[in-house]
Amino acid sequence: MLRTQTCGELRLADANKEVTLCGWVQKVRDKGGMVWVDLRDRYGITQLIFEEGKTPTELVEKAKGVGREYVLKATGLVVERYAKNDKIPTGEIEIQVTDLEVLNPSKVPPFIIDNVTDGGEELRMKYRYLDLRRDEVREKLMLRHRMLQATRSYLSDQNFMEVETPVLIKSTPEGARDFVVPSRVNKGEFYALPQSPQTFKQLLMVSGFDRYFQIVKCFRDEDLRADRQPEFTQIDCEMSFVTQEDILNTFEGLTRHLFKQALAIEVGEFVHMQYEDAMRLYGSDKPDVRFDMQFVELNEVAQNKGFNVFDQAELVVGICASGCAEFTRKQLDALTDFVRRPQIGAKGLVYVKCNEDGSFKSSVDKFYSQNDLKDWADKAGAKPGDLILVLSGDVNTTRKQMCELRLHMGDVLELKDPMNFKPLWVLDFPLLEWDEETKRYHAMHHPFTSPKPDEIVLLDTDPGKVHANAYDLVINGVEIGGGSIRIHDRDTQAMMFKHLGFSDEEAREQFGFLMDAFEYGAPPHGGIAFGFDRLCSMFGGSDSIRDFIAFPKNTSARDVMIESPSPIAKEQLDDLGLNLLPSE
Ligand code: ASP
Repeated sequence: MLRTQTCGELRLADANKEVTLCGWVQKVRDKGGMVWVDLRDRYGITQLIFEEGKTPTELVEKAKGVGREYVLKATGLVVERYAKNDKIPTGEIEIQVTDLEVLNPSKVPPFIIDNVTDGGEELRMKYRYLDLRRDEVREKLMLRHRMLQATRSYLSDQNFMEVETPVLIKSTPEGARDFVVPSRVNKGEFYALPQSPQTFKQLLMVSGFDRYFQIVKCFRDEDLRADRQPEFTQIDCEMSFVTQEDILNTFEGLTRHLFKQALAIEVGEFVHMQYEDAMRLYGSDKPDVRFDMQFVELNEVAQNKGFNVFDQAELVVGICASGCAEFTRKQLDALTDFVRRPQIGAKGLVYVKCNEDGSFKSSVDKFYSQNDLKDWADKAGAKPGDLILVLSGDVNTTRKQMCELRLHMGDVLELKDPMNFKPLWVLDFPLLEWDEETKRYHAMHHPFTSPKPDEIVLLDTDPGKVHANAYDLVINGVEIGGGSIRIHDRDTQAMMFKHLGFSDEEAREQFGFLMDAFEYGAPPHGGIAFGFDRLCSMFGGSDSIRDFIAFPKNTSARDVMIESPSPIAKEQLDDLGLNLLPSE
């Protein structure tokens, strides 16, 4: 090794040792007769000292000539510092340098490599390899590393076998667009990159592997958001001979283990909630249950009192914000503006202040007596001092709007502590989802999800009413994982494809291999996949998954460092038998 120690290792007890360190120059302080160099590696920072009288003059001069991010190899004696620095673990010592080698000089970096940096996002992404030198960024990847190791060891201890599945495959429908790769050998044909290894893991169950996992890259060509990347990592799992309960228990176990290993946190109860309750009480299939403010349906008490807007509404729904009766006109106007924003689209917001003296003040006093408003308050469980906020309209839209308002109130009232983790299983999702655009039912999870056996009969008469043994793990309003019990016989799978609008031929062409496999002794099975990047960012207390990926893409799906995607040469296109249409 070129070094005897790392830059984070030496303490006072090491005084008088001769050591050699290698690292990057964090900072040079030149006080004429004295030069200090902070040498950094991923383990820490150690101060080098060059002192006229004690250090040979040419070494002092050499030290004066180094700049930020030079790579040095320094040999010297560990000595106690005059002025100690209690902010860093090596702060009691410094190295009296006796030999210095510049292993490699560095251009002046385009931004300051420190926790507080002057580099904007785009610049730091272009020089991501430099950004990764910053403690803050590296620590996020360290957290990811610990979580990867903890996942592997936990699942392996539970008899899960890690199996790799291919990346050049054929479409697996997870509801997104595929990335495709043209085949040179088979001109005119394409591979698809896996949106997930769904069909392969099911085939592994047919092979009798019974407990599979893989930490695997998946690819979905979707519009990007802060918590989405075109390629992302899943902890993908499948189990045979299990009930839904077994899967929930196993992955509650994994989640608890990760919290313990990576954050030393014992998380509380994993609440189980029906999908329908989640929608009714929170207007979302991923409710944030760090705070209350459950929805209260007010149709019964708010309709037929002459207020047209409510009378015509399918749903009148409120939330009760405790202790907010004192909200000012300005605060209430800001809430109204919030729900009126085009992204939310409510026409207006009704409020009721439950005053401390037991009286009520509302924005609809014209239509409702004090007694009427008391009925609302009773229904909403509101006490004196509370504020009720009410929206109305058709059920789905109003729930969505109220969900946004509730989450916004969570922000306003600072109820969303990122380090307070509240896990939740959302259960019994509908099997199918109506799509207005295509006027068809789609699989809500994916086409391999099993309908609840006693509801299969409804598929012909009332498909929207059929539920699935499908579940999501939600933590703090974020979908962390999802899975289901699968179909494992050919007939049911064929029937499912039919309901999803596949002809027999299309189903055979796309998924014949799976349906064939089901005829050779497929065991009952089910599984789940966790979005690993999201899990990491949540553990790190951040909203952005990008920070937890070593080389992420930006919101236009570009890697600005390697400049990808990029055009390819004409010869390469010819090899692939591709002809590009001229772009406008
Ligand atoms: N393949 C599914 C997904 O990627 C997860 C599963 O059903 O196991 O969401």
